[in-house]
Amino acid sequence: MTDIVKMKGMNKYFGKLHVLKDIDLTVAKGEVVVIIGASGSGKSTLIRCVNGLEEFESGQLEVDGHPLAPKSGNPKSLADIRKEVGMVFQQFNLFPHLTVKKNIMLAPRKVKDASETIANATAERLLNRVGIASQADKYPSHLSGGQQQRVAIARALAMEPRLMLFDEPTSALDPEMIGEVLDVMRELAKEGMTMMVVTHEMGFAREVADRVIYIHEGQIVEQGKPDDVFDNPQNERTQAFLSRVL
Ligand code: ADP
Ligand code: MG
Repeated sequence: MTDIVKMKGMNKYFGKLHVLKDIDLTVAKGEVVVIIGASGSGKSTLIRCVNGLEEFESGQLEVDGHPLAPKSGNPKSLADIRKEVGMVFQQFNLFPHLTVKKNIMLAPRKVKDASETIANATAERLLNRVGIASQADKYPSHLSGGQQQRVAIARALAMEPRLMLFDEPTSALDPEMIGEVLDVMRELAKEGMTMMVVTHEMGFAREVADRVIYIHEGQIVEQGKPDDVFDNPQNERTQAFLSRVL
C-alpha cells in the first residue's frame, strides 16, 4: 500500500506556542481520514502543513514522495505538492471577478499549461460532477454558499489532485446547504480519492471516514475506525469532547 502522506515526529510552533506535538501520521492512498478536535487544537495547522501552507520546526514530512524539510521546506517539492494537493477551505475563496467556469479553468491554464479547449472541457465535466453545470457562466456572488463551495471543490479537482484537504468545508454554510456539499465529498471518497477532512459533521465522519483522528492540544490522543472512536472512545479527552458534540 502506498502512503500519500508520511509525517513523523512533527513539531510546529507559533512563537512560543507549541501547536503540533510530535505528530506521527500516515495516510494511505485512497484512505479518508477525518480529523476532529476542539477549536484551537491544531487541526487546521496540521493539514496546512501537508501542502506547505505552514512551515514546521522539526520532524519529517513526505507528501506523495516529495519531502518537505523543517523550516526551509524544499522549493521544488513545494511546487510539486501544490500541484498534487487540492485544498478546500471554510471560506470558498473563489475569484469574484471570474465566472464559475473561469474559476475552474484558471489553475489548469496557468499551472498545467492546459489549452483553452482542454481546460474548458475539464471545467464542464467537473461542473456536471458537482451538479451545477447550469451555473457555469455566473459569477460566484450570484450562487448560494453551497453552490460556491461545490465550485471550490471542482476548482481543486481540476488540477487532478492525488490528495484532497478539506478544512471545515461546511462550517460557513447555512444548514440546508451542508448536505449538498457533503454529498459531493462522499462521492469523491467512493471514487477512491485520498482525503484529509477536518469537520464537525460527525454523521459524515462516521459514514465516510476510514479512520477518525482526535487531536487535543496539538497531540493525536486517539484514532481508529469511526465506530470504535465514536461508540467506545478510550481516552478521557475524547470522551469529554464527544459527549459535548454528539
Ligand atoms: P483548529 O483548526 O483546531 O481550531 P488551529 O490549527 O487553527 O486550530 O490553531 C491552533 C493554535 O495555533 C491556536 O491556539 C491558534 O490560536 C494558534 N494559531 C493558529 N494560527 C496561528 C498564526 N498564524 N499565528 C499564531 N498563532 C496561530
Ligand atoms: Mg481550524
